Amino acid sequence: MAVVAAAADLSLLAYGDQVAGCTRCALAETRTQVVFGAGSPTAELMFVGEAPGFHEDKNGIPFVGAAGKLLSKLLEGIGLSRDEVYICNTVKCRPPGNRNPLPEELEACETHLFRQIEIIQPRLVATLGNFATKLLSGKPAGITQVHGREQQVVLGGRPVTLYPIFHPAAALYTPRMLQVLEEDFRRIPELLGLGPAPVAVAPEPVAPLHAAPSEQPLQLGLF
Ligand code: URA
Repeated sequence: MAVVAAAADLSLLAYGDQVAGCTRCALAETRTQVVFGAGSPTAELMFVGEAPGFHEDKNGIPFVGAAGKLLSKLLEGIGLSRDEVYICNTVKCRPPGNRNPLPEELEACETHLFRQIEIIQPRLVATLGNFATKLLSGKPAGITQVHGREQQVVLGGRPVTLYPIFHPAAALYTPRMLQVLEEDFRRIPELLGLGPAPVAVAPEPVAPLHAAPSEQPLQLGLF
């Protein structure tokens, strides 16, 4: 197992180095850096978001802004840390002004995501919001329709459970959506074959966070 982990680690590092210089689409001209992904190279659970925002572009790490803080809290709530999962995006470079990724940008970047899935071989891929869900399910159904419903798909040549859930950035502004996201999150341990989520003695609800002004405008297309 240690040999498999070391091989995945090396492959992912090597691929990350290669992608760092990517010029497959015009986002290469406006990005600060490529935001490849972060976490365990042998993660059973992978999260796929939309695209890096302001903070991610500056830091080179996905989900470090307000939405990322909420994601970390939700993970904590089911007994997992960011180091135990893998987190990345459909598009590896920040679209200017946090606009939605364009079809040609998604198309240019999907090779990188599929290669990451091939190397990591996750058992469960949780898609955060519309873009990742539509891309990886290959179907047009939006997140409001399909959230919380697992689908069996083949990704990176292997059977994978796809689990669409709301994007945490959407839940930051809408308490009802946060509630649904928390409910959908609670099913993750069961989908990983780990049994039900641990029940906290004094459950502490995830408080809605407010995005830093620099993260606004809110990315559209999250629902
Ligand atoms: N939103 C995303 O979809 N990805 C990030 O990395 C940060 C915010």
